[in-house]
Amino acid sequence: MRVFRRNYKVLALESSCDDACVALLEKESPHKPPLVIDQFKKTLLSAENGGIVPTAAHDFHHATMAPLVDEFCQKHSLNFATPPDLICCTRGPGMTGSLSSSIQLAKGLSMAWQVPVVGVHHMLGHILVSQLPKTSQPLLEPPQYPFLSLLCSGGHTMLVLLKSIVDHEIIIDVNDIAAGDSLDKCARELGLYGNMLGKELEKYVDSIPLDTRKEYHEINTKVKTNPYNLKLGLPFKGPRDPKYPDPIHFSFASFKSSIQSYRKQHHGDQPFDESTNQFLAYKIQETIFDHIIDRINTAFTMHGSNTAIYPEADSKFVGVRDLICSGGVAANSRLRHKLSQELKFNECLETEDKLTFHFPDLLLCTDNAVMIGVAGIELFEKLRIKTDLSMLAIRRWPLNEIMKVDGWTEINEAEFKSITRYR
Ligand code: ZN
Repeated sequence: MRVFRRNYKVLALESSCDDACVALLEKESPHKPPLVIDQFKKTLLSAENGGIVPTAAHDFHHATMAPLVDEFCQKHSLNFATPPDLICCTRGPGMTGSLSSSIQLAKGLSMAWQVPVVGVHHMLGHILVSQLPKTSQPLLEPPQYPFLSLLCSGGHTMLVLLKSIVDHEIIIDVNDIAAGDSLDKCARELGLYGNMLGKELEKYVDSIPLDTRKEYHEINTKVKTNPYNLKLGLPFKGPRDPKYPDPIHFSFASFKSSIQSYRKQHHGDQPFDESTNQFLAYKIQETIFDHIIDRINTAFTMHGSNTAIYPEADSKFVGVRDLICSGGVAANSRLRHKLSQELKFNECLETEDKLTFHFPDLLLCTDNAVMIGVAGIELFEKLRIKTDLSMLAIRRWPLNEIMKVDGWTEINEAEFKSITRYR
């Protein structure tokens, strides 16, 4: 007898920062990643303001989300007669005013359509979106636990060890501003303009002829005696730094002040000439990425298994085979290249296995609703949970405390089966 099977549909909403996003996903099997049917996105334009103003973001989301979702639902015939089976929305972390526009909308749709809601951790979305097939790596299997994730965006920079969907250990956190924020601020100091300044910096660096970039690369800025008299070292590297810092931190705030003090010393109030501007852009981007790699390599020496070379190694990373690079900055092709070339995985873990890099498609690296749907489905299916309608937006929500917030409710077998329809 043929068993009738129907995919179950998931509507996902995201509005934690400056992107208003909605997506529709379909799930046809517990063993396959969801299919992405469609997504809409609108971004708050903030170049004129020199950054995101929280009140402007609040008004933008409250004015944008409802008509955007209405148009999307009409396009996909999602309505009272044919609703989706599950709604996922970002619950935090992020700006509460912005988050609440999606949360309130999700609650309203949940009541109207009698469909459960899952309130999702934004960064879990960035990590789990790596389960989707990737255009540049079509044959790659999804990552297997335990795996590492480098989350690198305008709001966050961290290296996380994931032992299961909700068992996360933050290995490296940032102690000042995120890498993406630093890249944006440095780009502004160098006179670049746009809504995504880090992306503009990448474009500007890529526009420098390859031979010139190679010349810049050879110039040592660890000391001041170079043709540009620029000294730009890695944060934390110096004689006073312990070999095994605990915890390990990223730090990106010093890069903007390096440009400012360089300008003061050598150029007064004058703008840089084009050659100096290009050189600074190249070196700033390169050194920020070198710092990321230097800290991850420090983590490998501390948590690998090669005690012959690194006597204090505690083998915490044994079993790790996958590294996910997610978040807006992880879309930078220079960072991707450097990560794949410069990490000391084999030396520190004494393994013949290769570290497999997962680079989600560029459109899924920046904030989007697809990732919220993917993470919500995973929480719903693996942990059999949803979020009750009393949920509030959460401004600060550490990634290693996903289950410690209120509002999680268990789903019983009958409800689970009525939604998934898996046979
Ligand atoms: Zn994000």
